[in-house]
Amino acid sequence: MKRFAAILLSLVLVFSLLSAFAEETAVSESKPKIVVLATGGTIAGVGEAGKTAGYKPGSLTAEELLAAVPQLADVAEIEAIQVCNVNSDDITAEVWLTLAHTINEMAEDPDVKGFVITHGTDTMEETAYFLNLTVKTDKPVVLTGSMRPSTSISADGPINLYESVCVAASDEAVGQGVLIVFSDRIYAARSVTKTSTYSVMAIAAGETGSIGIVRDEEVFMYESPSRRHTTASEFDVSGLETLPKVTVLYFSVDADPDLLQYAADHSDGLVIAGAGAGEFSEKWIEIINGLTIPVVISSRIDDSMIIRDNLLCKNTVAANSLPPQKAAVLLRLALTGEISRERLGELFLQY
Ligand code: ASP
Repeated sequence: MKRFAAILLSLVLVFSLLSAFAEETAVSESKPKIVVLATGGTIAGVGEAGKTAGYKPGSLTAEELLAAVPQLADVAEIEAIQVCNVNSDDITAEVWLTLAHTINEMAEDPDVKGFVITHGTDTMEETAYFLNLTVKTDKPVVLTGSMRPSTSISADGPINLYESVCVAASDEAVGQGVLIVFSDRIYAARSVTKTSTYSVMAIAAGETGSIGIVRDEEVFMYESPSRRHTTASEFDVSGLETLPKVTVLYFSVDADPDLLQYAADHSDGLVIAGAGAGEFSEKWIEIINGLTIPVVISSRIDDSMIIRDNLLCKNTVAANSLPPQKAAVLLRLALTGEISRERLGELFLQY
């Protein structure tokens, strides 16, 4: 009887040792979980085989995008969500809010390591900046896309998707705000912009440059964004289903003042891309001086810096170095609550 008990005890011991070992091996082999949120764009574009133009963006599903990169299975466990499947010029405030709500909810899950959003390049920078101000997590959120459709020769989508998942799964990208990964480079949401309508090197960040590089699975970060973002942002969109309407106007010689008045009458706020250091004609100044809605002055110059002293109309706010399309994102968020002109001016210095 004693002998039987001893054998039983040894069996139990061996069994527990084996299952502990199996569990440990499973943990060390388990891959970080990355959520891929697909929205469309050229990366999901399909056209004539081999060609780079004349395709239909937003054609492939999230699952089809992932299936084109089987190597992803070596670096992450992926959950795919199809948020929409559109040309990024059809992205709306509702899509932005869906993305922010989804990320904020899923980031609570300790198993989720990071997020990748596939997106058209045309408005990718606006979505990135919006999320940079509204997601409440330090976990990496990475946007990517491509310049060539999936059916072209040397499509850039698969490598951009692969590198984005590697960045989202890395510890290096934690707490860096929302990022764009494109052609091996890592960019911060505030400074990144689209710079080419055809080249695969279509994403850049002007004077400030990229903040990191990704080569295969290795992620090298060498700068950090210093403006407020994600967990340090004051903007809370949790209860929102839409955003205030802000119109962006582009000034040029003889620009019609009636269009400015019309835009003001149909918007909650305006951003004006002025000439030079945010300047415009006497006719426009006269109308702007009579407006009661918030007006932010940016510039149509790529490398711009608008400060209070540049302002021709003292009732307006300077966009600082934000381009018009990103100034509009910040203004829309600012107008979700009551805000004074003074505080609005401060926001453009802090974000
Ligand atoms: N028109 C496309 C889009 O933004 C361009 C691209 O994705 O590169 O959806």
